[in-house]
Amino acid sequence: MSSVIDGKAVAASVLEECRAEVQELKSKGITPGLAVVLVGDDPASHVYVGSKVRTCGDLGLYSRKIELPATTTQEELLAVVRELNADPAIHGILVQSPPPKHIDEEAVVRALDPRKDVDGFHPENVAKLALEDPTGFVPCTPAGCMRLLAASGVKTAGAEAVVIGRSMIVGKPMALLLMAKGSDATVTIAHSRSKDLPAICRRADIIVAAVGRPEMVKADWVKDGAVVIDVGINRIDDPSTKKGYRLVGDVAYDEVAPKCSAITPVPGGVGPMTIALLMKNTLQAARQLG
Ligand code: NDP
Repeated sequence: MSSVIDGKAVAASVLEECRAEVQELKSKGITPGLAVVLVGDDPASHVYVGSKVRTCGDLGLYSRKIELPATTTQEELLAVVRELNADPAIHGILVQSPPPKHIDEEAVVRALDPRKDVDGFHPENVAKLALEDPTGFVPCTPAGCMRLLAASGVKTAGAEAVVIGRSMIVGKPMALLLMAKGSDATVTIAHSRSKDLPAICRRADIIVAAVGRPEMVKADWVKDGAVVIDVGINRIDDPSTKKGYRLVGDVAYDEVAPKCSAITPVPGGVGPMTIALLMKNTLQAARQLG
């Protein structure tokens, strides 16, 4: 019998922790502030930015939404980043991904003050994660996955964990978190060149799928009693729905769930955790910057 890991409920409890922390910071004269920069008019990015700003408002954080036209040059965007770096009302800065193609995203990330890089993508924060330095910012999605494991009482120490995907946003930081002292999992990272992925996954006590391929992980890839964290968010056509599509993860949920001891659904699993951990990171930045 599998238990479904309720990401909405765990995210709600993280947000409640944040609400209390905001009050504590405010009592010390600090109003945590998050700036979200959006370049261009990608509709999904508008939705994400909207919910980040709404969550800030709900918790009592100051937020600033900076919308720039798709024609914004690299230099203009860097000038905005530099201004925010210098602004004492802003503790966290997030440049919504993906920017238009002419923007060098890596250069923008490097221009951020690492002390305000609440996405945790700046090289200094990547290094701090590898060094297990708690003053760094951990990328929100893998940090959210770790909270889900903890909230579900999953024992990571000594567990065989397989992370499918090696992106800087999810796969790599996830692997570092699982192997860090205190988590103590034995970690395998798989990717598109891995041989016999089903056999690699069958060894796993914990599988984290962060691939971007709809329902790739099948029931015969998963050993009985494994814990499965599905990071994937994929749109597949579904004419029976109003929108004409529905969201599925990287795991074939219906066939995999009965074999697991615990599994995250899509939607309602990892997704809600990402914003919650962004709020956590912004509060950490406000505390550290003072
Ligand atoms: P990327 O495209 O950056 O990385 C995908 C990874 O999957 C790569 O390392 C790639 O390998 C690997 N991969 C691709 N195909 C295969 C395959 N057939 N077998 C094994 N590995 C494969 O994606 P992200 O890490 O940014 O995102 C992954 C998924 O998570 C997406 O669906 C995304 O939408 C979702 N996501 C969800 C978030 C949330 O809040 N829930 C937040 C961020 C992402 P290689 O390196 O060899 O190319």
